[in-house]
Amino acid sequence: MARKIGSRYTAHQILGRGSAGTVWLGEGPEGAVAIKLLREDLASDQELVGRFVQERTALLSLDHAHVVGVRDLVVDGNDLALVMDLVRGTDLRTRLERERRLAPEAAVAIAADVADGLAAAHAARIVHRDVKPENVLLDMQGALGPGGAHPALLTDFGIARLVDSPRRTRATKVIGTPDYLAPEIIEGLPPRASVDVYALATVLYELLAGFTPFGGGHPGAVLRRHVTESVAPLPGIPDELWQLLLQCLAKAPASRLRAPELAARLRELLPGLAGLPPLDIDEPDGAEQEAERENRTGAASPGARDEALYPPVAPAGETPPRGAVPLVQGAVPDSNRETHTSMRVPGPEELAGGAHGTARAPRAAGERRAGSARHRSSPEAVRRRRIKLGAAAAAVVVAAGLGGWLAWGGDEPADTRPGVHQPAVSPR
Ligand code: ADP
Ligand code: MG
Repeated sequence: MARKIGSRYTAHQILGRGSAGTVWLGEGPEGAVAIKLLREDLASDQELVGRFVQERTALLSLDHAHVVGVRDLVVDGNDLALVMDLVRGTDLRTRLERERRLAPEAAVAIAADVADGLAAAHAARIVHRDVKPENVLLDMQGALGPGGAHPALLTDFGIARLVDSPRRTRATKVIGTPDYLAPEIIEGLPPRASVDVYALATVLYELLAGFTPFGGGHPGAVLRRHVTESVAPLPGIPDELWQLLLQCLAKAPASRLRAPELAARLRELLPGLAGLPPLDIDEPDGAEQEAERENRTGAASPGARDEALYPPVAPAGETPPRGAVPLVQGAVPDSNRETHTSMRVPGPEELAGGAHGTARAPRAAGERRAGSARHRSSPEAVRRRRIKLGAAAAAVVVAAGLGGWLAWGGDEPADTRPGVHQPAVSPR
C-alpha cells in the first residue's frame, strides 16, 4: 500500500527491516529511491528530531560511488525518514551466508570498494563506526569487477549518529557491533578513522575465512579477545594479503593503514589473486578450542575445567555454535552479532581478574589442528597488559549478568557524528 512521506516521496513496498526502522522502495521527483522510515519511538523523540535536522548538511554532503547516497531527510508529522539512493541488489551478509566464504579476488575487490568509500568519508571528517557486512550493499546492476564482484557500497552513515543521543547513550558505554569493534573503543579512546579500517579488515578476514577473527560466544568474551588476543593465521592465504590484514588489525590505531592507502594496496593485490579458489578452512569449534586453550595456558581458575562447572554448550552429538563458550559458569552463550553492544566501562576499582591472551587458530581443512600457531610477541605487549585488566573486568561484568551494565538489543547504535569525533566512552 502506497504511503506518502513528506510532500515529495511515496513509499510503495517494504524492502527490508533493520534495527533503526523499515526500508521502503519508494519514488520521488527524480525516480526510484530507498526510504528508511525510522522507528516510531525514534521519530517521536524531539531531541533526536532536532539533531536530525541539524546534521542534515553533513549527511547529504557525502557523494561517492562507493557510498549509498543520502538524498533527503524528511521530518513530516510523526514520520522521520531518510531518502537514499536505491541499490538494487543484496547486502554483503546475505552473500556471505549464501557462499560462506568468498574467493580472495572477490573479497579483496569488495573490501577495496568499501575502503574507497571510507576514504571519502574520512576526508570529510566522518567516521562511520559501524562497518560490517550488513552495512555493505552489493549493486547487482553495476558492472562486474574483479573476481565477478558487483560494486560494493557502504551504507548507514549517520543513521547511528541520528539515533544516538546523549539521553539514549549514557556516557560510559561502549557502543558498536562487538565482532567489528576496534580495541581502542573498548579501551575508551575516542573513535578515530582508524576504527573503520580495523572494522573493514575484520570484514575482509570474515569474507576470506567465513568467520570473524574475534567473534563467537558472549559479547564480553568478544570484546576481551579484541584487546588481548592475536589474530589467528589463515592457512593458504597469500602472504602479502595476510600482511595487509595484520597491519589493519593492529591493536595500536596508529599502526593501521589509512583508508586511501588500504584501498590502493588492496587493488594492487588483485591481479595476483585472480583465479584463486576460496580458502579451504575449517571453522574453529569454539567450545572445544577454548577449553583446550585454557588447558594449555592454565588461565582458568582452579576447578574451572570441572565438567560440572563447564556444562556442554550443545547436547552430545550436536555441533556447538562456533565460539559459544560461557567464560564464567552459568553465563549463557550468545553468538548474536547483528545487534550492538552497549556496555558500561568498569571503573578502576572494578578492574580485577585475569584474562588469557592467545589467538584461536582456524584449521586448514584436513589438518587435525593448527593449534599452537600463535603470534603474541608483538611490540604491543606493554599496551596489551595495560588494557588486559579492563577487558577482563568487562567480561566478568557481563558474565555476572549485572543487568543495568549491559544492554544488548541493537537499539543504541554507534555515534558517528561527523567532524566531532566524540568518544564512545567518556571517563567516569
Ligand atoms: P538498519 O541498519 O537500520 O538495521 P538496514 O540498513 O540494514 O537497516 O536496512 C534494512 C534492509 O533494507 C536491508 O536488508 C537492506 O538490504 C535494505 N536496504 C537498506 N538500504 C537500502 C538501499 N539504499 N537500497 C536498497 N535496499 C536497502
Ligand atoms: Mg544497517
